[in-house]
Amino acid sequence: MDKRILTGEQIIVEVGNLKIGGNHPPIYIAGPCSVESKEQIMETAFQLKEIGVDVLRGGVFKPRTSPYAFQGLGIEGLEYLKEAGKATGLPIITELMDEKYMDVVAEHADIIQIGSRNMFNYSFLKTMGRLDKPILLKRGMCATIEEWVLAAEYIVAHGNKNVILCERGIRSYDHYTRNTLDLAAVPIMQKETGLPVIVDPSHGTGIRELVKPMSKAALACGANGLMIEVHPNPPCALSDGHQSLTFEEYEQVRRDK
Ligand code: PEP
Ligand code: MN
Repeated sequence: MDKRILTGEQIIVEVGNLKIGGNHPPIYIAGPCSVESKEQIMETAFQLKEIGVDVLRGGVFKPRTSPYAFQGLGIEGLEYLKEAGKATGLPIITELMDEKYMDVVAEHADIIQIGSRNMFNYSFLKTMGRLDKPILLKRGMCATIEEWVLAAEYIVAHGNKNVILCERGIRSYDHYTRNTLDLAAVPIMQKETGLPVIVDPSHGTGIRELVKPMSKAALACGANGLMIEVHPNPPCALSDGHQSLTFEEYEQVRRDK
């Protein structure tokens, strides 16, 4: 990795008044895996605002393993998410999977998420690099540190330095957890890139009970924030209910940090 723009010099990403990275306090991104209805995202936004959250998340284009699983509400969901953000004054983040929706997502969302499955999509990364919008780049589920650094490099090399990295676990031989959360990647990626690095303990473990201890661990090793899935009624969630926290559980994560 010789020629690089990301040399480790610290980069602070700004989202509205929020400063992410460096010595700024860790940010909390929370919300449902999927936006399921207007009521669901509104209720979640207001509850989270009350408990403490910096950015509201909600997937509207869902990268599901099965083509028969809930695929997200698409543009309709994006509008609900936008309304919920506006009603609570919270910035919003959502995943963009397909360039054809780039303009509408860039218009509505405050941060665009590149999911684990697209980390290796180099033409997509180049396009994201041309956007004037903060990008959350999740680690590919099979990506080495070097591949992840270079994926970030693709975005900054095309003009966009507003990149937040997100460790979300990698595949290993063990299937007890959904993924193996690689917390050593946090200080490594901070040192290698200078970019803020946050942790997603929800996809990183796939197990609700592990979200709180791994959130603590992530903050202890210097993560610049957390991304946590929260749902008003996890057993009825249309995606990732088993790893989603109730509002009470999220409140405990916020309180016992
Ligand atoms: C998500 O955060 O909604 C998601 C699909 O995560 P990942 O890309 O890490 O699987
Ligand atoms: Mn999810």
